[in-house]
Amino acid sequence: MPPDRYDAIVIGTGQAGPSLAVRLAGSGMRVAIAERGSVGGTCVNNGCIPTKTLIASAAVAHTAFRAGEYGVALPGAPRVDMKKVKARKDAIVEQTREGVASWLRGTPGVTLLEGQARFESPREIRVGDARLSAERIFINVGGRAVTSTIAGLPDVPYWTNSSIMGVDFVPPHLVVIGGSYVGLEFGQMYRRFGSQVTVVEMSPRLIAREDQDVSAAVRDIFEREGIAVRTGAKCIAAEKGPAGVRIRVDCEEGSPVVDGTHLLVAVGRQPNTGDLGLEKAGVAVDKRGYIVVDDELKTGVPGIWALGDCNGRGAFTHTSYNDYEIVAANVLDGEHRRVSDRIETYALFIDPPLGRAGMTEEKALASGRKILVGKRPMTKVKRAVEKGETLGFMKVVVDADSKEILGAAILGVTGDEVIHSILDVMYARASYTLIQRAMHIHPTVSELLPTLLGELAPPGAKSVSATA
Ligand SMILES: Cc1cc2nc3c(=O)[nH]c(=O)nc-3n(C[C@H](O)[C@H](O)[C@H](O)COP(=O)(O)OP(=O)(O)OC[C@H]3O[C@@H](n4cnc5c(N)ncnc54)[C@H](O)[C@@H]3O)c2cc1C
Repeated sequence: MPPDRYDAIVIGTGQAGPSLAVRLAGSGMRVAIAERGSVGGTCVNNGCIPTKTLIASAAVAHTAFRAGEYGVALPGAPRVDMKKVKARKDAIVEQTREGVASWLRGTPGVTLLEGQARFESPREIRVGDARLSAERIFINVGGRAVTSTIAGLPDVPYWTNSSIMGVDFVPPHLVVIGGSYVGLEFGQMYRRFGSQVTVVEMSPRLIAREDQDVSAAVRDIFEREGIAVRTGAKCIAAEKGPAGVRIRVDCEEGSPVVDGTHLLVAVGRQPNTGDLGLEKAGVAVDKRGYIVVDDELKTGVPGIWALGDCNGRGAFTHTSYNDYEIVAANVLDGEHRRVSDRIETYALFIDPPLGRAGMTEEKALASGRKILVGKRPMTKVKRAVEKGETLGFMKVVVDADSKEILGAAILGVTGDEVIHSILDVMYARASYTLIQRAMHIHPTVSELLPTLLGELAPPGAKSVSATA
């Protein structure tokens, strides 16, 4: 039997695949899209959507515990019902997953196939017993949690970002290995649900790719909530312990072990490329397994593209979705959009959140540019004071010669939203004075951006409001 012929095959229903499949079908193509797990991929099932839903519950708990500070008396101490917290999360995830699945099933020209897809040749894919062929194949297989780097893990029970989604109780003492984006979001969330939490991080500081002042402020935010932070943890190893798990940290200071009842491993991600049969298609991967692509997301094999986390060019829902936009524009509209045209941006959804765009101050300095920096603590942002949420700061880095904004970090209440007014000016490649001279709404966090940009100073020199 010859393979079933399609115009295009999409592997994986992450954040690029479904939109691309529907767009291709809309242009008249016959499209197959294969999914081996849950439709919607990481973001929908065990990434962005469930975590932000759980974080919303944790934020309500936190506010309830602080009610007295705002002059609000509650009838008793707030209590977190984790079964209900989980049920709320499950309902939102399921609704989203079903939405994507019925969108795909209901789109004329799209066939959704369940099962593991594997290349048989550069033009042929096998999904279970089905053989399919197409002139265009788009890989959107995403990634999964790394666990292999932690010694002793096979011998102790542990959670990853996926398995922790099934938890419907408050672990008495959660140890989180990994002080980066995923680990920090779960760490603060579970602390607010009522767990004792210890974050263990190998680097000398949390979120080590950020500036020192950002890492220090995040640590301060965590420690104020009673989260223990162990950085500089060399030789992390897990074993069974008196309370459940024991993590050997071998830190320079403090006890060489952390005892907890439960363990979450959040030490990074790896691409789902090992079981795709890429060698049969001649598609190259780098030494970490990421598919090698050019600036337009083409692999070295004509007719095969890779989008989303599996290409190593981004690790976010918005980068994966932007990959879809680039590929769709280039394949269907004859454009030449490129990955290098986009500006790095992301958020860390702790509370208060960190919104980031472009370069860190350290990177901007290392680039050899002459830079100016504006920094303002959230204690000097009236809206933050009014809300009783004054932790963090805003920082913008500007090229002193071109006057373009090089990067920003808004660690503070609504920082994940405020960052976009900076990001859009960066895309416009406009001078920072565009924001400086704009009239913003009072009282908002964003209203301080013009003020901040009026107080730029060379790095190290204290601008008018840089001190807390
Ligand atoms: C805990 C956590 C929180 C996150 N929070 C955020 C956030 O707030 N904001 C943000 O922007 N990003 C966040 N991310 C990252 C985000 O989830 C991913 O970047 C995003 O899902 C993009 O993934 P993707 O499109 O590459 O594929 P994925 O979403 O990973 O989906 C890939 C799909 O391909 C399927 N698949 C794999 N191999 C095969 C195969 N051989 N055959 C068939 N199907 C296959 C998988 O089952 C999966 O469904 C978070 C990640 C985690 C882990």
